[in-house]
Amino acid sequence: MNTDDKKIIRAHWDRSVASKSESRLRTRPVILLAFLLGCVIGSTDLHADDVVVDEPLVAAAGIIRQTGQHITLYTDDRDRKDLAELVAVFDLAVNQWCDHFEVDRKAAADWKVDAFLMADPTRFKKVGLIPDDLPKFPAGYAIGKNIWLYPQPGNYYTRHLLLHEGTHLFMNRFLGNFGPPWFSEGMAEWLGLHRWDAQTRSLQLGYRVQDRREADYWGRVKIVRRELAQGSGMSLEDVFAIGPTAFQNVRFYGWSWAACEFLTHHPLTAKNFSRLKRHVELPAHLFRRKVLTRLSRQEKLALARDWNLFVHEIDYGYDISRGTLANAEPLETENHGSSNDQKFQIAADRSWQATGIQLSKGDQVTIFGTGQYRVKMTDQPWTCESGGVTLRYYQGNPLGMLMAAVLPPADEAEDINQALIIAQPVGYQQTIMANHDGQLCFRINESPTDLSDNLGGLEVTVQKLK
Ligand SMILES: [Zn+2]
Repeated sequence: MNTDDKKIIRAHWDRSVASKSESRLRTRPVILLAFLLGCVIGSTDLHADDVVVDEPLVAAAGIIRQTGQHITLYTDDRDRKDLAELVAVFDLAVNQWCDHFEVDRKAAADWKVDAFLMADPTRFKKVGLIPDDLPKFPAGYAIGKNIWLYPQPGNYYTRHLLLHEGTHLFMNRFLGNFGPPWFSEGMAEWLGLHRWDAQTRSLQLGYRVQDRREADYWGRVKIVRRELAQGSGMSLEDVFAIGPTAFQNVRFYGWSWAACEFLTHHPLTAKNFSRLKRHVELPAHLFRRKVLTRLSRQEKLALARDWNLFVHEIDYGYDISRGTLANAEPLETENHGSSNDQKFQIAADRSWQATGIQLSKGDQVTIFGTGQYRVKMTDQPWTCESGGVTLRYYQGNPLGMLMAAVLPPADEAEDINQALIIAQPVGYQQTIMANHDGQLCFRINESPTDLSDNLGGLEVTVQKLK
C-alpha cells in the first residue's frame, strides 16, 4: 500500500454540508460515507480513517489476501473458490463505473481499495481491520477506501454486494458525493446487478436480469411485489422522500432500485436521469427537480401512471420502454347504421395501447379482433390470433389473447396500491361493460418481460353500443 492509498477520505451524510461547496468536497471530502447493503447510512458526524493493514499480523491471524489492480481482498474464508473471481470482477467494474459516470478512465487508473470479506469478524477486529467507530451492519459497509462484507448466500449475491459497495466508493471518490439516499442506494443496486461470464471473463454492470436464477438471493422484485400485495407500495414521490436512515430496512433497496430502473428507461425521464450524476451534490428537493426537469403536469401524471403499470406487473426482465402506455394506431373508420365502428391496429410487441375512446360507467362496447401475429420466437415462431395460444397462459388467460381494459384518469394512479388496469379477456369477440369512467385500451396477453420477440399485430374493431 503506498502513501496515496493511506490518504484519509472522510465523509459524512449531511446535505447542508454537502451542498456548500462541490470543489471543497472533491479536494477534501468531509462527509461520512457510511453505506451498506442493509447498511445504515450514518446521519451523525462520524469520521473514519482508512484502515492501515499490518500485513504480517494479518497473515499470522489466518487472513489471506488476493490482490488485483484496484482491490486487495482480505478474507478468513480460506476455502472460498471465488476469491480470484471477486477481484477480477471488481477490477473489470472500474472501467464500467468510469463509463457510466462519465469519468475519464485515466483518472481511476491508480484507484485502489481494501476489502475485508469476513467469516469471523472478531478475527479482523483483533488485528485492527475494524475501527472502533465502525457501526454495526448486517451485510456490507463502505467508507473511504475500505469495504467490509459478510459472505452472502450464493456466489452471485456476494459479488453483487461487493459491486454495490464499490459503487458507493467510486461515486464518493470521483463524483464527490452520492445524491439523495434513494439515488445513492438505487444506483448501487442498479449497477450491482450484473452478468458475469467466468469462461470469457466478461462483466456487464447495470444488467437487466432476465430470470431470478441469474441473481440468486437478490430478491428485490419479490420485495416490491410483496409490499404491493400488503398495501405498502411506494409512489415515485414516496421513493424520492426516503430518508438516509431508512436503509436499515431492506425494503427501501427494492423500491430505490425499481425507481432507478424505471427512470433510466422511461422515455420521459431517460435524458434527465442520465444527467443526474452531475448533480449529486444537490439536496434532495433540488435533485428531485432535476429528475422532473421540463416535464409538464400531464407528463408527470403519465409518469405516475406508468410507474403504477410497472410495479403492478414487475418481474425480471420487465422492459419499461415496452411497458409504458402507448397510443393505438387508428385505422379507417366505418359507419354502419346506428353503430359507430372504430378500428385500431394493436401492436403485439407493446403493452397497453390507448384508443382515445372515452367510456362512462355502464357503457358497453363490442370488440372484434382479427389478424395473425407472432408471440414468441423459438426454433419455430409461435403464430397467434386474437384467441391466444393455449400452450402457455399468462395471468389465467392464453398467451397472446386480445385483452381490453378501461384506464381511469391519470390522477388515480396516485393510489399506488391499486392496480390502475384490470384486464378483461376479449379473444375474437366480446361485449364488455365499463365498470368506471375511463379510456378504452388494448393489448395482447403477455408479460412486458417477454414482448421483445413478438412481431406484427392485430386489427381491433370497437362497436359502441350505448
Ligand atoms: Zn448501499
